[in-house]
Amino acid sequence: MSQLYSREMFSHYIARNRKLAEVVVIAENKPGVLAVLANVLSEHGINIVSCSTTPTGPVGSIFFLVDYTEADKPLSEVISTYGKLGFVKEYHYREQVLPSIIFTNYAFPPTLANRRVIVIEVEKFIKLLSEFVDRTDYLKQLGRYMGEYDCSMYVPEGVEVKKPSELSELLRVLQVKGFGVPEVVEFSVERSKIVIRELFEKELGEAKERDHCVFTCGYLEGFLSKLFGREFRVEEEYCASVGKPHCCFIATSR
Ligand SMILES: [Zn+2]
Repeated sequence: MSQLYSREMFSHYIARNRKLAEVVVIAENKPGVLAVLANVLSEHGINIVSCSTTPTGPVGSIFFLVDYTEADKPLSEVISTYGKLGFVKEYHYREQVLPSIIFTNYAFPPTLANRRVIVIEVEKFIKLLSEFVDRTDYLKQLGRYMGEYDCSMYVPEGVEVKKPSELSELLRVLQVKGFGVPEVVEFSVERSKIVIRELFEKELGEAKERDHCVFTCGYLEGFLSKLFGREFRVEEEYCASVGKPHCCFIATSR
């Protein structure tokens, strides 16, 4: 199983006694653009603390959160050099309003595959779900809707799945969305074994002494049923909420 690296959702930055700013550049989407923009900042002692790019076609947006405490020139002067670059369409910047903290203003809305999303902390989501923990049919149905939706939204039509690694790759959508890290260890259309590490739902089990990730069972049922065009049933074989290293699911179809 591979090493994981966390990915910041790019929303705010806090640094005591530092001068912070956000910068947004709308530029041509081509190789080298990010390097040139970053170099301009580094040449003047400006540190990039966070960066994200959103390519939406031939033109994309690039966001920087920067710390310019040690800059050798006023920020406005450094950023104005972007206007001389042919591939830059427009640029804006905004300095911190309160000392030591900045929340991004330009970076909105957050998107996933160009669709607007909202961000909710796992802890908060678990609290919401725990209201329904005695309604396992509801949790499972909710998961099922999401699994069907994700399969129809993110899996291109006509994809053929023959190997465990191929199904793992499609289920990676669970990982992109922050649910957990899937790995298909055995695969056949009749019976598959799917392991999920760091599954968010295990915390629901821990909170409620419940050892069954029902939402995820529903999710996998929905996803697989949609993918293979036949009805799947998914049961959790064992759960990380009772001390196992991960959650393990068995998917069967008739
Ligand atoms: Zn579990």
